[in-house]
Amino acid sequence: MPRIPFIAGNWKMNTLKASAIELAKAVAQGSPRSGVEVGVAPPFVYLDAVAQALAGSPVLLGAQDAFYEKSGAFTGEISVDMLKDVGVKFVLTGHSERRHVLHESPELVGKKAAAVYNGGLILVHCVGEKLDERDGNKTLAVVEAQLKELNPQSIADPARLVIAYEPVWAIGTGRNATDAQAQEVHAFIRQTLGKMWNPDFAGRVRIQYGGSMKPENAKGLLDQPDVDGGLIGGAALKAESFLAIVNAAK
Ligand code: PEP
Repeated sequence: MPRIPFIAGNWKMNTLKASAIELAKAVAQGSPRSGVEVGVAPPFVYLDAVAQALAGSPVLLGAQDAFYEKSGAFTGEISVDMLKDVGVKFVLTGHSERRHVLHESPELVGKKAAAVYNGGLILVHCVGEKLDERDGNKTLAVVEAQLKELNPQSIADPARLVIAYEPVWAIGTGRNATDAQAQEVHAFIRQTLGKMWNPDFAGRVRIQYGGSMKPENAKGLLDQPDVDGGLIGGAALKAESFLAIVNAAK
């Protein structure tokens, strides 16, 4: 069964309200209605405004994080129900900046992933090795451990699970993985999902590549058999470059 590529923009802690709306409108206007799924994940405070800017378009609204509890005394946190309330359809978990800058533990990442999936949203679970781990030949072990933060017993719908392979050394550095390096890890991820679930399930899960994907390198990466889209940081902040990647995926 063919997997529809999914290109998602992670805006991180960028834009202000007016620029978020402007960017969302341009992405909505330029995104095709078929052949590729497109999403944007703005900062929390602009979700509502961006939802309105995307209204009537096929572009999915995403969130960059979510807390695992439903409600209560968790100052500063945002629940999955709150995200659904403003139209969010997908949520990132385990992004390298949350793991390595905000020091989220594998246990916390796993709890957040369970809450996102159990809340009915599309879970985009990010995995990827740091440079010293790649140099130490630990890439596959690191990625496997991060995949095992997910619980196959509670995740049954492959359409609501997306894995983003993002080598940490490639994020925001301008240095992307080569097509072959990406394909090697993506194939390993699919094989691991096949063992955790089963090969049919694994064959339906989309695996995005992330890490300095841009219009100039997108086609080569997206042409790899196990690369089913991209999670885009820097290049998602300009509609022109983001849409060029979207079109390369189509
Ligand atoms: C990201 O943070 O998800 C990412 C891939 O960033 P960049 O495209 O800027 O490397």
